[in-house]
Amino acid sequence: MTDNTAFPTGTILGYPRIGRRRELKRAVEAHWAGRADEATLERTAADLREATRVRLAELGLGRDDSSIPESFSFYDQVLDAALTVGALPARFEYLRASDGSIPLSAYFTVARGEGDHLPLEMTKWFDTNYHYLVPEIGPETVFSLSSNRFAQQVSEARAAGFTTRPVVVGPVTLLALAKASGAAPDGFDPLSRLDDLLPVYVEILAALRRAGADWVQLDEPALVSESLPYEPAALADAAARAYAVLGASSARPQILLAAGYAQLSDEAWTALAAAPVEALAIDLARGDVPAPQPGLASKTLVGGVIDGRNIWRGDLAGAWQKVEALSALGAASVSVGTSTSLQHVPHDLADECELDPRLVSWLAFADQKVGQVVTLAQGLTEGRETIAAAVREASAALSDRMEAEGVRIDAVRSRTALLAPADFDRGEYGVRVAAQDRALNLPVLPTTTIGSFPQTDDIRAARARHGNGDITTDEYEGFLRDEIRRVVDLQEDLGLDVFVHGEAERNDMVQYFAENLDGFAVTQYGWVQSYGSRATRPSILWGDVSRPTPITVEWSRFAQSLTDKPMKGMLTGPVTILAWSFVRDDQPLSETANQVALALRDEIADLEAAGIAVIQVDEPALRELLPLKRAAQADYLAWSVDSFRLATAGAQDATQVHTHLCYSEFDVVIDAIAALDADVTSIEAARSRGEVIGDIAESGFAHGVGPGVYDIHSPRVPSVAEVAELLTRAAAELPLRQVWVNPDCGLKTRGYDETVASLRNIVEATRAAREAV
Ligand code: GLN
Ligand code: ZN
Repeated sequence: MTDNTAFPTGTILGYPRIGRRRELKRAVEAHWAGRADEATLERTAADLREATRVRLAELGLGRDDSSIPESFSFYDQVLDAALTVGALPARFEYLRASDGSIPLSAYFTVARGEGDHLPLEMTKWFDTNYHYLVPEIGPETVFSLSSNRFAQQVSEARAAGFTTRPVVVGPVTLLALAKASGAAPDGFDPLSRLDDLLPVYVEILAALRRAGADWVQLDEPALVSESLPYEPAALADAAARAYAVLGASSARPQILLAAGYAQLSDEAWTALAAAPVEALAIDLARGDVPAPQPGLASKTLVGGVIDGRNIWRGDLAGAWQKVEALSALGAASVSVGTSTSLQHVPHDLADECELDPRLVSWLAFADQKVGQVVTLAQGLTEGRETIAAAVREASAALSDRMEAEGVRIDAVRSRTALLAPADFDRGEYGVRVAAQDRALNLPVLPTTTIGSFPQTDDIRAARARHGNGDITTDEYEGFLRDEIRRVVDLQEDLGLDVFVHGEAERNDMVQYFAENLDGFAVTQYGWVQSYGSRATRPSILWGDVSRPTPITVEWSRFAQSLTDKPMKGMLTGPVTILAWSFVRDDQPLSETANQVALALRDEIADLEAAGIAVIQVDEPALRELLPLKRAAQADYLAWSVDSFRLATAGAQDATQVHTHLCYSEFDVVIDAIAALDADVTSIEAARSRGEVIGDIAESGFAHGVGPGVYDIHSPRVPSVAEVAELLTRAAAELPLRQVWVNPDCGLKTRGYDETVASLRNIVEATRAAREAV
């Protein structure tokens, strides 16, 4: 180990890396499209890192005390770690350079797939809306240092006069989030490779030290989760073993071990307190101050008192109390930080000129959160009295929010207060199926899509021109009607069975509803990375929710008028609206969810009245909000399922209610999916090659199910044979009348060429399958 530079009194665990105006997205996508070479892309990335360092120093973090994290990533932090340690799946080995390193081009190919080589699977990062790429680890994986990017970024910062703190996903979390490779035997446990992996981490640490890092941050959020296939004690044990080795390595930076997203398990806390690392960062936004431990006397404790996951202005008085409680644990010193990386919040509130100033006074984006951390850190070094004014201001903003008009509306509250069990129950499934069969008369293996069709540049341009006032609302709506007509004609031509209107009028499946419901505000630049180059702009749900007028009805009515095929009405479900917005934190989520559900229930009644016979209520985020702690899961599943049922239970028997869920881990939620009581459920299944079909069949799920046969997260066109294989598999494991055929998510992010080619293959494979069965 090296000379001890003290840990800074204030820090953040990570910062948004997409750029204030999504510069990284544009640069990366231009590179993929062949419009910018690798050197250009690298330059943009270096400029972004420089801008971030300068900005964070401006906001008050130290230039040379390791308080500025280096958390840049071209695509995903898990992929960064996986490829740095050489965990390249066998099917991509051909991409490795002759010196054994993994070049940037290979990195992007692993993320996006190429030809027949499927990319890594993607799944949600803990209970957030960020998706990481799932490493594939097997007995055959050879760990070896395969990239020196982390160290290069430290050198780059040093050359610019900064001593930054590189952020790397830790070895336990890397393996705990991995899946067994295709070559691994049944039941293979990636974590069993820990001892083989550690020497590479030792090398990474040494390289970082040589590059000039005084501190490194190793992220180990797996240690808080009870949603991974490991017992907390097993994870704690792995951490004890891993950090004994890393701590004992020579010539390394000091280690900050960071575990955000919830409270550490008791076992992990005990293990980490005893581990030979110099600092521990814990989440005090979602977790409590833990019990004292003997090993803390030599460590710095970083209290994550500023929430890294929401946009509410932090309660500085409350945060200060937590810091004081932390100081009583007997650590060598206490610092303040964010509870997680700030990658989950937008850059800067100062960019939002169109938000109501009163609302703005209740909020904090990344830069404002940095400011709050800096304030608390000043309190620690210069005394609480020096920050008294800032603390008072934060408290005043909080009380102002409690009392403001629109936060509580009597008419909304009296409606939720009167709800009775019958409002949540749609009645016999058998009766519904009979009525729907009569009404819809669909073929066996009905084909459909998940809702959106590609959002072309033309659509985006028209939306922007309408937003700027360059075209009138009439012109814009005329454009959208033409677009719908085109999408309907295309579906006729393809021969699909249940149509969609394509969602061209929606910028985003949640924001669209947020813009049309009361109780929400939308931002201009509030982008948050969702995965890779994709970002979403979550709305701010600040008040009681109600529906001033019907939202989707006229578009659906128009689309249905163009065809004899059933046209699906498309709505976003209450849980997803909550999960993909920044939601008020002053009342239970269940209460907010029921308010949204009632607005949707009214919308469904209006759609039925307009002649819509199939209505899809998307709940892709149902799994994502599942609490990481088992004790909290049952309650969550109860209210989330109830809110969906409340939204849909008013539908008539003959109305076919669909839902769509886009992830492949159905373990804990499989009963909840059944409890939603939708008539048809479409799910992600393409990337995991239909593994989930078996689980669904086993669970006894008896309603319609559409296991996705086309992975829309990748530009690959699935072959007829490949789709046919998935269909054969589904038809072998499930009763035929249950099976639907569809892509595994909306097509909005895809181009038309690949979409049309893929849908053609799907329809052709379905025709063949119909003949075969
Ligand atoms: N209906 C939505 C769409 O097709 C569903 C998207 C999603 O599941 N994320 O875009
Ligand atoms: Zn989806």
